[in-house]
Amino acid sequence: MGIQMVDVKSQYLKIKEEIDRGIQEVLDTTAFINGPQVKKFQKDFENYLDVKHVIPCANGTDALQIAMMAVGLKPGDEVIVPAFTYVATAEVIALLGLIPVMVDVNADTFNINIEGIKAAITTKTKCIVPVHLYGQAADMESIMKIAEEHKLWVIEDNAQAIGSDYTFSDGRKVKTGTIGHVGCTSFYPSKNLGCYGDGGAIMTNDDNLGELLHKIANHGQSVRYYHDVVGCNSRLDSIQAVVLGAKLPHLDGYCDARRKVADYYDNAFAEVDALETPFRAPYTTHVFHQYTLKVKNGQRDALKQYLDEQKIPNMIYYPVPLYKQEAFKASSNGLEYLDNTEELCKEVISLPIHTEMDEAQLAYICDKVKAFF
Ligand SMILES: *Cc1c(COP(=O)(O)O)cnc(C)c1O
Repeated sequence: MGIQMVDVKSQYLKIKEEIDRGIQEVLDTTAFINGPQVKKFQKDFENYLDVKHVIPCANGTDALQIAMMAVGLKPGDEVIVPAFTYVATAEVIALLGLIPVMVDVNADTFNINIEGIKAAITTKTKCIVPVHLYGQAADMESIMKIAEEHKLWVIEDNAQAIGSDYTFSDGRKVKTGTIGHVGCTSFYPSKNLGCYGDGGAIMTNDDNLGELLHKIANHGQSVRYYHDVVGCNSRLDSIQAVVLGAKLPHLDGYCDARRKVADYYDNAFAEVDALETPFRAPYTTHVFHQYTLKVKNGQRDALKQYLDEQKIPNMIYYPVPLYKQEAFKASSNGLEYLDNTEELCKEVISLPIHTEMDEAQLAYICDKVKAFF
């Protein structure tokens, strides 16, 4: 059936003409770095997100690192992160000499647990990095409240939830990635807004931070060859900006397409006792970067093996808690067990989800999954 976890090719074919033309223009003008396409995408993305500053950069991991540098975190400062996430979040914390403090997630939303955050705060805590896992926002209203009380920075890892809306209890609706002091995202090809190489962006509504973030991403300079702060070299190139510029007007449609796939799966699996379909938090629109089931009764690994045999793509995001990763054992303060994180590592499985899935593919996958149980 040719089912793929993510189908980047079919999506490209639908907007091929525009992308090819834009890339050819970059080739013709040779403005590979800082071409007008980058500035244009930056402005378009600021408008889409309704945020004051977007700082394009080389990838999502850089975005997180630059954000942490900009808010002035110092070696030894503690940064609170969920233990159940992609490694990039904790990696940059460790690279900067900061201490990742890993907190359990909720069993339903897969996102960082609010009581866990409160319990983890010490006099050394300086920052919280919530991750909007699989495309669903963490409880940002509670997180911002805690941050305000304890004077902490909040850096959102929005790499999996671009395009998602978040509604506060007073009815105010904003885009995820624009709620914390700084937001970070990735344009890795398989992300919901992906380019054709590496790319990332940093978002903020704070003018001072906006200027500093730009500066840090550009060798710490705002005037060429005058370096005010220690920075790095992190740029989005013009060709990637062309791809992102062409895709951005489709992003809301892409999110809807993913939600339709999720609805189909939800319906199909409603009667399968051993499967728990994704919980949808009322305060946010899930953009389903992943469609992740919980398999009860200890059957996850058997289901995975069966799907592999049936040639149905599937992934385990993520099989190991951060604190059990060899690289983070030293920095995890002897943490050995967080209930929900451990359980999720054993229960989750993600099925194919992307913007180009058709009903025949979905019916096929669902029939096979149901046949297993
Ligand atoms: C993809 C991802 C990143 C890193 O993005 P890159 O562009 O690959 O560096 C960071 N955090 C999360 C949660 C991600 O999914």
